[in-house]
Amino acid sequence: MNRRLDHAPNPAAAPALRPPAPRTRCAAAAAEDPTPCGGPHDAATLIDRQGREIPGCLHHCARLLATLDGARVHPFVPTAHALEIYYRARELPPYAWEIGR
Ligand SMILES: [Zn+2]
Repeated sequence: MNRRLDHAPNPAAAPALRPPAPRTRCAAAAAEDPTPCGGPHDAATLIDRQGREIPGCLHHCARLLATLDGARVHPFVPTAHALEIYYRARELPPYAWEIGR
């Protein structure tokens, strides 16, 4: 009998049962954004419009800041990092990865 049992666990159907994949990019990296992190994953923190804090590298914080309406850099982020994020975000369109940037 080679029939598959319906009650047999199917790993693809229950992703919560698998151990989480190791995070290779920071939390600010959008899933659709293929670019790698630029620096430490906790170099800065963004605050979105709802007040949620999103830690990330400078590269992805800038890309996310350019994308999220109403987002800002956390006031405790070092000034040099905050300025770098704002300067980079100013040069980016929202969802920069959709146009290959
Ligand atoms: Zn990153």
